[in-house]
Amino acid sequence: MVSTTYNICTLPGDGIGPEIMAEGKRVLSAVGAAYDVDFVCEDHLIGGSAIDTTRDNGENVTALPAETLQAAQAADAVLLAAVGGPKWDDLSASVRPEQGLLAIRKNLHLFLNLRPVHIYRALRDASPLRPERLKGVDLLIVRELTGGLYFGEHKREDHVEGAGVNGRAGSFASDVMQYSEYEIERVVRWAYEAAQGRRGKVTSVDKANVLATSRLWREVNHRIAKDYLDVESSDMLVDNSAMQLVANPAQFDVLVTENTFGDILSDEASMLTGSLGMLASASLGDGTALYEPSHGSAPDIAGKGIANPLAQILSVSLMLRYSFKMDEAAATLDAAVEDVLDAGWRTADLADSATPVSKVLGTREMGDKVIEAFNKCCAK
Ligand code: NAD
Repeated sequence: MVSTTYNICTLPGDGIGPEIMAEGKRVLSAVGAAYDVDFVCEDHLIGGSAIDTTRDNGENVTALPAETLQAAQAADAVLLAAVGGPKWDDLSASVRPEQGLLAIRKNLHLFLNLRPVHIYRALRDASPLRPERLKGVDLLIVRELTGGLYFGEHKREDHVEGAGVNGRAGSFASDVMQYSEYEIERVVRWAYEAAQGRRGKVTSVDKANVLATSRLWREVNHRIAKDYLDVESSDMLVDNSAMQLVANPAQFDVLVTENTFGDILSDEASMLTGSLGMLASASLGDGTALYEPSHGSAPDIAGKGIANPLAQILSVSLMLRYSFKMDEAAATLDAAVEDVLDAGWRTADLADSATPVSKVLGTREMGDKVIEAFNKCCAK
């Protein structure tokens, strides 16, 4: 008998979005069948497809229809694929696909973003780092998402007399970086809780030797660390962190930082894996959480059935872990992905010159392999 039902708002979006989302949903059904959970998925429009549909219907043209937002707010979780494409690339257009993403993140009050960086044994050679540097790399970047520089006041004045610090004539611009104790605390606390379920180590990244916001960040980190004495806590300056991520990435377990530093460091860290098609992310807040691959809508391969669905599938795994506390199911799914790669199966983007053609799979076939491996792991 099915004991639990979860409602998922699924947003396939544009480009390869519908193709990879189909695999995410099939995997979710397999998980539901194995764990007696009914995942009810309902598709809604976002991005370019929402722009086209609202325009065709003669409605207010938008990348995030009100009905999508309501469904997302009412759901137990949101699973997004990707948005955008050349059709909507006109920078002067008043409505653009990515506005849908920003609007949904804002309206769901998603204040932290998680990006796990895991090196798959079988894909070690795809990383720009030497394999010995990748040994033991398994880190989680926790980034503050709704504060700091990106959300402070942005100002620009052109052709002003005596502008800027040196008083010379010319243009002047400023961006205000601001944080309240509350905004820092909720993210840092989350990082410590996450570390308790991992290797018990938090590195808080700041620029406390220069920035007032960073000094506040560090103070809050030290205060919160006292509540988690089982977690090893340290501070690291952001410039050093950028170096350490390349020099010795295995030293990190949970790395927590503010918005701008997190934006940059998470992209740097994602390159350790060497493959865009493997990176999932989660954005969490007070209400419904949102899960999505880190890559875009790959319009160059859309409709060809060759897109890599693994980042979408790994986003499902994050959803199981963080929204539904189904840690065992998530770990089994992660293991299934690892097994499929270990067995040599690849989508075209992961294949190299040594990959036999017979091992290169399309999107749906890769979904099949993961489901097969998942069911096998469950049966063990
Ligand atoms: P992209 O990530 O879509 O593609 C970059 C390269 O990686 C392409 O060669 C693509 O074919 C490949 N690629 C990406 N995902 C893949 C997958 N799952 N399987 C196989 N190959 C994959 O980035 P881009 O080309 O800069 O952007 C394309 C569109 O996506 C743009 O409209 C952009 O605005 C949008 N975009 C959306 C998001 C999002 O929805 N979160 C993020 C980034 C870019």
